[in-house]
Amino acid sequence: MNTVDTRWEKISKEHTDKDIIKEAGDIIKNGGLVAFPTETVYGLGGDALNPESSRKIYEAKGRPSDNPLIVHIADLKDLYKIVSYIPESALILAKHFWPGPLTMIFSKSDAVPYETTGGLDTVAVRFPSDKTAQGLIKAAGGFVAAPSANASGRPSPTSAKHVYEDLQGRIEMLLDGGSCEIGLESTIVDMTEEIPVILRPGYITEEMLEEVLHRVEVDRTILSNLSKAAPKAPGMKYRHYAPKGELVIVSGESPGVTAYVNERIKEGVSAGRRVGVIATDETIGLYDDCLKKSVGRREDEAAVARRLYEILREFDEEGAEEIYSEAFDYGGMGQAIMNRLLKAAGHHVIKV
Ligand code: AMP
Ligand code: MG
Repeated sequence: MNTVDTRWEKISKEHTDKDIIKEAGDIIKNGGLVAFPTETVYGLGGDALNPESSRKIYEAKGRPSDNPLIVHIADLKDLYKIVSYIPESALILAKHFWPGPLTMIFSKSDAVPYETTGGLDTVAVRFPSDKTAQGLIKAAGGFVAAPSANASGRPSPTSAKHVYEDLQGRIEMLLDGGSCEIGLESTIVDMTEEIPVILRPGYITEEMLEEVLHRVEVDRTILSNLSKAAPKAPGMKYRHYAPKGELVIVSGESPGVTAYVNERIKEGVSAGRRVGVIATDETIGLYDDCLKKSVGRREDEAAVARRLYEILREFDEEGAEEIYSEAFDYGGMGQAIMNRLLKAAGHHVIKV
């Protein structure tokens, strides 16, 4: 593909630079691509209503074109233009969680091209809370299709540096708003079903959704490897978030896990391999010398979420060939953390 000069522009969170945002919006209006920060991860934005822009997004990411994009809006009124029906429950969720890290799936209106939805009659929509993201969406005309701004298959980017590593020369502009607050992609809920279904867990947890809707279901593929079950969303069938080294999750009681991993470290290091470990503040001192990293305190799920993708990328930079990770609890945001770890590990789990 043709390469372009990628302009890297720092954006202050306190006082948004209106000129830069306007320029970025014009790039998208003219069919170009701009990466931008959101509260979840960085997005790779193009005009959601322009089929050519969506084609460019897939090309820039190297993403299969049947893996649908999320359309970002910055005004609830705009939702009515891109969907054909809004159930009452969606308005309740919007009232509680928008703007914020929640994506809802609706039947699409004719305004949304199939290029954006990966050929589906449904469209995924999110209203982000990040002010830079909101400014850009408005400047771009109101509808920005944006998958995560990583090369397909790599961990999602949580800083501008990560975006640049993957997409330099493939996008016209990169808006650098620093590190993302949440660090994991949005929760996705399918609102086209009678009872809404969580297709991808995230910062907005099952418990939070149930508090306002009473009933939600969780797609059974999110924490298991049911390769034979037809995926609800095309994107769910693809391996994601993977580091280059082989990642294995080791689950069990702490002494057993550290003993098992230390064996693997000894074996790997003596064979000249680079071994990495994903530990927590509580356990990192228990592992023998290797490329070991802490995701933070085990109880601080928000910190673990924020740090996870960055750690996976650091292992790539350091050339880790095999990586062992502790497992995390499934409650609350743990569901999202384990969903991403399991995908990154291709569901390779060892129980000790
Ligand atoms: P990303 O933007 O990289 O976080 O990924 C977007 C994901 O949203 C896709 O991989 C799908 O899993 C999901 N998605 C987007 N649109 C739809 C849709 N219409 N139906 C179901 N899932 C969707
Ligand atoms: Mg992604």
